[in-house]
Amino acid sequence: MVIPSKVHVALLASPGLGHLIPTVELAKCLAAKHGVTITVFAVIPEDTPVQDELLRSATSLWPELINTVVLPSEKDFPSDVGVVPRMLAMVRSTFPALRSSINGMVNKPVALIVDYFSTEAIEAIAQELNMLKYVFIATNARCLYYNFYLPYVKKEANRDEPIYAPESEPIMDDGQFKLVLSLADQTIKELVRVASHMAAADGILVNTWEDLEAKTLNLFKEERFMKHISRTPVHPIGPLVRAGEPTGSKPELMKWLDRQPNKSVVYVSFGSGGTLSAQQTIELALGLELSEQRFIWVVRPPIENDSCASLFKSKHSDEDELFEYLPDGFLNRTRNVGFVVPMWAPQEEILTHGSVGAFVSHCGWNSSQESIVNGVPIITWPLYAEQHLNAVLLTKEFGIAVGPQEDPSKELVKRDEIAKMVRRVMVNEEGIGIRTRVNEFKASAKEALSEGGTSYISLSKVVEKFVI
Ligand code: UDP
Repeated sequence: MVIPSKVHVALLASPGLGHLIPTVELAKCLAAKHGVTITVFAVIPEDTPVQDELLRSATSLWPELINTVVLPSEKDFPSDVGVVPRMLAMVRSTFPALRSSINGMVNKPVALIVDYFSTEAIEAIAQELNMLKYVFIATNARCLYYNFYLPYVKKEANRDEPIYAPESEPIMDDGQFKLVLSLADQTIKELVRVASHMAAADGILVNTWEDLEAKTLNLFKEERFMKHISRTPVHPIGPLVRAGEPTGSKPELMKWLDRQPNKSVVYVSFGSGGTLSAQQTIELALGLELSEQRFIWVVRPPIENDSCASLFKSKHSDEDELFEYLPDGFLNRTRNVGFVVPMWAPQEEILTHGSVGAFVSHCGWNSSQESIVNGVPIITWPLYAEQHLNAVLLTKEFGIAVGPQEDPSKELVKRDEIAKMVRRVMVNEEGIGIRTRVNEFKASAKEALSEGGTSYISLSKVVEKFVI
């Protein structure tokens, strides 16, 4: 169907690059493939070059179709306010500006698409302004499914007792159940509220695709789910990830990567927020060295007991480049085989490069998908948020990853185990099967996004609702 170019849709992205990056990708997809005019409203914790470039590149590619607005938001919170309440409050504080911006538009947007931490805007803004209400989930369908069942989690429950919901089989396995039980009461309450907002939406777009998560996607269509939990249709529209095309002049890192043999480099990164302790940083350095494999490591100054410490800080200072916290002589000993980058690297370009053979990842969903669409096997190192659940999916269900025995967010992962995991993927026969499976998903991702593919059709059907 041909979409009149005047169809205008507003997108609202919560703070953090892990939210802004996929929202901008959704904007680009709606504009480029479906001809929709988009305004991206961004809530940003602080101005950083990475964010600025992200927003600038979206508008410069489609100046006629994509506009971006950074909303003024509350930024100062007492240090004891947790990440989830902080994020929700930050978004809430933008509502007056968001409302008046939309009201002031000549071509008023017909729909508001909000991401996970912005779902309060469904009632507060979209309903009030008579707009269609959509949620964009930048993680996978399984996490969304679990989130809907959170009201059934009872903190006082026997820890070995699985969760039962109405007319349902056990929802989560033991490991996942324990993980949910470890969340703070306040966090569970907030997430339950998000679930109720999502149930009030006209639709939920999920950054996944049919072939990857068919089993879970079918659960949303079961009568018992629709009867007791939510009737909001769920649309798999992914994987929406950045293309990894080089921009500007080639950085030293990419020139180094050009000189490495095919699939010989392990890329190590913990997303936009992941931060390790001092002891874990040393152990990781020595583990990489012990593995005798080439590597690129996006390294951050260690911080104790705060695995998401870098979440809202993508700026870095010159001191970060001193790498004083790395083991004595490490940089010297590995200078021919390793490249250490402070704070932030062009991940989408790195993962697209043919020299990369594996990804040690915190398993954020953007990173996981960026790895899959490039056929790169994963070594899981989950730290916070839904990353543990993602790690289970990647290892046990999709068979495209290996992980440590210990929980890296609680126990020290020792150098021997790190080296062993890296070699399992890069050297051992086990790695061949993993690589084959990830390449199958790579092909099915491409297929899903192509014209006539499952994700393309899924998003087209949503766009049709914008025109009716
Ligand atoms: N990223 C990047 N360079 C870095 C670290 C992260 O470009 O050094 C990007 C990464 O490619 C991904 C996003 O930041 O698109 C992180 O999102 P993800 O969902 O993986 O994790 P989060 O940061 O939300 O925990």
